[in-house]
Amino acid sequence: MTDPETGLGSDHPVTRVLQQTELLRGQQEDLVAHVAELEETLAQVVAALAERPVGGPWSWRHLDAYEKQALLVEVRDWVDWTIERYHVQDVLKPCWYQHSPILLEVIAVYVAWREAYGPRGPGSYTSDLTAWHDRWWWPMIHRIQDQHWGAGCNAAEHIAPPAPEDAPRAKTNADFEPSARRLIDGLPEPLGREELRALVRDGEAEWLTPSSKTSPVRMTDGTWWAILYNSPDGRWVPRPVEHAQVLERQWRAKQKQRPQPSSTGQDEENEP
Ligand SMILES: [Zn+2]
Repeated sequence: MTDPETGLGSDHPVTRVLQQTELLRGQQEDLVAHVAELEETLAQVVAALAERPVGGPWSWRHLDAYEKQALLVEVRDWVDWTIERYHVQDVLKPCWYQHSPILLEVIAVYVAWREAYGPRGPGSYTSDLTAWHDRWWWPMIHRIQDQHWGAGCNAAEHIAPPAPEDAPRAKTNADFEPSARRLIDGLPEPLGREELRALVRDGEAEWLTPSSKTSPVRMTDGTWWAILYNSPDGRWVPRPVEHAQVLERQWRAKQKQRPQPSSTGQDEENEP
């Protein structure tokens, strides 16, 4: 049997090298496709992380129900221990977690306790422990007493505090949205998805991750727009330099992967 291109036999060394080369080329194509997929995923992760809320695993406001439950169980164990050790059962009553101010105070002082008592090398003496007592723990206990949070409760009975909706604040709230809106007076208007799609169609903008409906967008002037994690209206707004730089790096990495030429011909224009 001979190779139709070279006319050499199938067992000829040159034929074998050619076969191996063909095989390697196929494998290389698979790898390139795989890397491109990974980069796409990474870009989505980075874009999401760039807008992650601060506050971490102790920010009650940002936790989902499972995370809240886990944190509550974790902190409760510590609260039980402090009641036993510091004799504060008259302040941290069994219903402490049902009083929102106490719950949030206790989580905060627990996090500070974790930090103060965190891992240390032998002999690394510190004033963190006494600072924790003096600055965080006892002031918190006194604050709970001074504010009368849970003052009417006891081991047998919890008296629910009045709901915040009952507070007379509706009047002063009426001006809230116009006031908040005035903060962005004179700045570029937030853009909706349809407006951005039109810009992308016209070659004036580019999605970082076209497959994502919330992808950040690069304008042809090099600025980046994205949806804030806490966006009031789900619209895209310009992002500050430090965030834009993260997105720009992702975008450049994707540009390198992309087969040439780019449909918008932006590549040359926008290289620094
Ligand atoms: Zn209570």
